[in-house]
Amino acid sequence: MAESEQDYHLELWAKNIYPNCGKDIPEGKRVGSGKKADGGFCSLNCYAEYYRAKIVERAKRVAAIAERHRKS
Ligand SMILES: [Zn+2]
Repeated sequence: MAESEQDYHLELWAKNIYPNCGKDIPEGKRVGSGKKADGGFCSLNCYAEYYRAKIVERAKRVAAIAERHRKS
């Protein structure tokens, strides 16, 4: 899972597309952790938004697992 997501980031990096908003990336205009595998973003807001969405998604998944566990 983590690996395919990194591949996705690397692919978008190579194509000069921002992973969050899908805009084209002007040369050298990337914000983020600085690691290709973490993706490049158009702004810190865009970066924060992307990772906030990911955290919410993960929290939901954990909640669903916990729920299933409680019922079994
Ligand atoms: Zn963006």
